[in-house]
Amino acid sequence: MPQVVLKLSHEKIQMLKNYYARSLKACPPGAIFAAKTSNSSITAYKSGKVLFQGASPETEASKWGSINENTSSKKKSSIQKSTHAYAPASTLFTSSHIGSDEAGTGDYFGPITVAAAYVSKEQIPLLKKIGVKDSKNLTDDNIQLIARELVKMKIPYSLVILHNEKYNQLQKKGWTQGKMKTMLHHHAITKLLKKMEPDKPDGILIDQFSQPHSYINHLKSEKEVLQEKVYFMTKAESYSIAVAAGSIIARASFVKEMDKLSKLAGLTLPKGASQKVDKVAGSILAKSGEVELYKYAKVHFANTKKAENYNTK
Ligand code: MN
Repeated sequence: MPQVVLKLSHEKIQMLKNYYARSLKACPPGAIFAAKTSNSSITAYKSGKVLFQGASPETEASKWGSINENTSSKKKSSIQKSTHAYAPASTLFTSSHIGSDEAGTGDYFGPITVAAAYVSKEQIPLLKKIGVKDSKNLTDDNIQLIARELVKMKIPYSLVILHNEKYNQLQKKGWTQGKMKTMLHHHAITKLLKKMEPDKPDGILIDQFSQPHSYINHLKSEKEVLQEKVYFMTKAESYSIAVAAGSIIARASFVKEMDKLSKLAGLTLPKGASQKVDKVAGSILAKSGEVELYKYAKVHFANTKKAENYNTK
């Protein structure tokens, strides 16, 4: 059984005892308290050692201390970095589930788009047939076509767009991109669950972009909680047709928004964050100044600084 040991102060242990007050169980000899949560057992000893055991002990342990500093190398080897309590069972991929994915996070120009899509298990073969797969392996033209098919098939989905002005505002307020993505995924899923009522999915899979505990903490900071049966997995679009459908809808929306913004700017805004991007940003700066850039770009990216080199007029 994987386990993690932390050495904590007695004050800290008291905090843990309060935190797990509702999950306390009979205490073994020499222990201050013992508790059991859905993903681990916790035992705190008078020596200050706190033992976390179970399916995913690092999920609980990481709330209280740094695992790497405190865990002996022998025990560390039993902890896989990628495992967490929110990994989906492989049966989820063939069941009726929601998948959620985003686009635009690495692009200097354009919004972040997040789409959640619901695919019933009966629809999975049909979606495979029309070419629904990881959007990274599709051209933008193909993505547009498949997205249109998905809409025609009336696949239930929801789409949220964080436009650049709002993005820049939140970023100035101290929001990380991780927090923005968290709130966008959460919002997209909430909207879709509402739309589907009274039907409920067998599960919800988010293409993982951060550790589940930091996703949950971001939600907490906005007084939101994780919905039921939410799972996280990296590269989920390669395993789940619902996540792949979400990734296609999100990408199609991003491409469409980029076209709109290009028209508005009067020039073609390139995707990505390359040198070509710096040049175009430079010409917007030269023509209209920084305020204008706020409408089109994620201005905290290093591209803004580099663009000034091209702003020679
Ligand atoms: Mn993704």
